[in-house]
Amino acid sequence: MLGNKKKYIVNGNSGIRAQQIQFADQKQEFNKRPTKIGRRSLSRSISQSSTDSYSSAASYTDSSDDETSPRDKQQKNSKGSSDFCVKNIKQAEFGRREIEIAEQEMPALMALRKRAQGEKPLAGAKIVGCTHITAQTAVLMETLGALGAQCRWAACNIYSTLNEVAAALAESGFPVFAWKGESEDDFWWCIDRCVNVEGWQPNMILDDGGDLTHWIYKKYPNMFKKIKGIVEESVTGVHRLYQLSKAGKLCVPAMNVNDSVTKQKFDNLYCCRESILDGLKRTTDMMFGGKQVVVCGYGEVGKGCCAALKAMGSIVYVTEIDPICALQACMDGFRLVKLNEVIRQVDIVITCTGNKNVVTREHLDRMKNSCIVCNMGHSNTEIDVASLRTPELTWERVRSQVDHVIWPDGKRIVLLAEGRLLNLSCSTVPTFVLSITATTQALALIELYNAPEGRYKQDVYLLPKKMDEYVASLHLPTFDAHLTELTDEQAKYLGLNKNGPFKPNYYRCLAPTPPLKTGKPG
Ligand code: NAD
Repeated sequence: MLGNKKKYIVNGNSGIRAQQIQFADQKQEFNKRPTKIGRRSLSRSISQSSTDSYSSAASYTDSSDDETSPRDKQQKNSKGSSDFCVKNIKQAEFGRREIEIAEQEMPALMALRKRAQGEKPLAGAKIVGCTHITAQTAVLMETLGALGAQCRWAACNIYSTLNEVAAALAESGFPVFAWKGESEDDFWWCIDRCVNVEGWQPNMILDDGGDLTHWIYKKYPNMFKKIKGIVEESVTGVHRLYQLSKAGKLCVPAMNVNDSVTKQKFDNLYCCRESILDGLKRTTDMMFGGKQVVVCGYGEVGKGCCAALKAMGSIVYVTEIDPICALQACMDGFRLVKLNEVIRQVDIVITCTGNKNVVTREHLDRMKNSCIVCNMGHSNTEIDVASLRTPELTWERVRSQVDHVIWPDGKRIVLLAEGRLLNLSCSTVPTFVLSITATTQALALIELYNAPEGRYKQDVYLLPKKMDEYVASLHLPTFDAHLTELTDEQAKYLGLNKNGPFKPNYYRCLAPTPPLKTGKPG
């Protein structure tokens, strides 16, 4: 499991790339440091991150002219500490502004901070984290700090770190080891610097993609004696945890926050509802009104895309294989068709199925001139892009993430992000969506850290339903939303506790794939 794996990374404005990576000891040990040139070429050729987590990274300070590796720099923050490694500590002020902007859209974490003024539910927690290092992560880390935890952090992605944010965190005393454009060697070095510290041992892990967890498993297995739990955000990382659990090798409880209802609703439905338009607009400058669009798949992502396009005046067709989702599409006012029936007439084709080869070469051959083809579903399997790499077709890169594929008769189709996820490649993710994830992570850490002995075994759990509801409730005040309280009589009638949980554990908006255990409410 520690061997080859495909990962997709959000690469700032230049998009997602899929690359094969290997663990450090299969390539080169991190302490055998490559030359500067070697490091540079490595950083261009590899990528790390989870397939499914977001970074809304946008960097405002250009430090690309500074070629010195952060590992070769002697830096101190204003308090004299050098327990960090970032691109340039002098960028801290810019980063602080980014963090303050993110705080505005992360109300739940700010509420947790206020509530923690009296009690410190993470007092004594030593959290080692490996996530995208962005302004939103910074708000999370500073919240964990306010709740009493000590944190050490590395990046889960070699490109997504916002250097100025990493600098701001280092300036305010967080040992952060991350910069944009790390080499693979740097990547593992940074993780190791978070874990391998004299006089400090983590007792909690917050991971995104599973690399940190597996590094500890591989290099420092004894550390697990002191670790109370793992919180994992990504599909990939959760999958790796289930594999460990299945093999009987998971030695601490783990919380799968990826499958929390609130997180999935926001990631799949609401985020896609907003970002489909953003991704299309940024890449093509198109107008949506009156355009004929076919959306393949009417699950959560498809529903979000259809709703957004319909609201913009597009004529939307839907394809489905599941009669229930198909009926939903009909009830929502969309024409249910087979892709073949509309492929010649549509202006845009969007895949959202989680499936493979939904758009085949045959479909691509029949599309009209200038048809836009993009994917919002599963990484890069939904459109058979490989079938377009044939000698008779010409590829023309017209913009970043935009290719024209030209047929011998002059017909061209507009392929976005080479069939990878359009929104992750070509737009940013709203901070509010990341706020839900970050709050879920914070609550999962609190739950695992404070759970009495025996509540969680060496297995993978979902966040208890009640806490999932709590994440949602912490976001309601932003909208001045007024939640109705059950009367005693109503609670009795429904057989519910007035304070929740309000739905059974099996009530989910989405069917999760692995068998999921839910923690008992705390
Ligand atoms: P879902 O299961 O709710 O919906 C997928 C739908 O596609 C289902 O209704 C299914 O019946 C249908 N389908 C499957 N094969 C089909 C085919 N050949 N033709 C037509 N319809 C078909 O899943 P979801 O939550 O909507 O997620 C869909 C995909 O999007 C997943 O791969 C998920 O990982 C990905 N996703 C992307 C983003 C993003 O930001 N772009 C966010 C969340 C999830």
